[in-house]
Amino acid sequence: MEKIAVFPGSFDPLTVGHESLILRGLEIFDKIIVAVGINNDKRGFLPVEKRLELIKSVFAGRDRIIVKTYSNLTVDFCIENNATHILRGLRTSADFEYERAIAQVNRLMKPEVDSVFLLSHPEYSSVSSSLVREIVQYKGDARKFLPEGIDFEYFFGYNPENQ
Ligand code: ADP
Repeated sequence: MEKIAVFPGSFDPLTVGHESLILRGLEIFDKIIVAVGINNDKRGFLPVEKRLELIKSVFAGRDRIIVKTYSNLTVDFCIENNATHILRGLRTSADFEYERAIAQVNRLMKPEVDSVFLLSHPEYSSVSSSLVREIVQYKGDARKFLPEGIDFEYFFGYNPENQ
């Protein structure tokens, strides 16, 4: 049976940290569903459609990576998609405390879905979507923190080379 994991998050936007985790996840799972959570109460930085487009452009041609949105409980989304695991990344001890609570509550709700954590590689442990958003807001060069080859101008509205 195919082993499928859901990698849930806001991905606002996808960073090199997320990219690295997804690629490492492919060594463990047959398929990874990158699941962009839609939160109607929270206005994002990039619209959800652009977040999806960015992720799809990074993983174009990789049929083991599927990109979807969801707006229900992560564990319910996993079951709907035949995923047995939730994949999450750990950068710091603060991430660990936060993730521990979520994973334990998820397990109480749906014990058939388990959580798997990968420690961030050290070069990515300070990289976050919020850091990228901050740099982009001030029209800085955030390319180091974003996957290679994305159309920066299309997604962020300016050319970082001209800054
Ligand atoms: P959320 O809002 O659910 O935390 P994010 O998009 O910020 O969504 O993160 C999704 C997942 O990716 C989380 O498990 C987070 O810990 C992980 N992650 C984020 N940045 C990195 C990074 N630099 N290295 C490894 N994992 C990361």
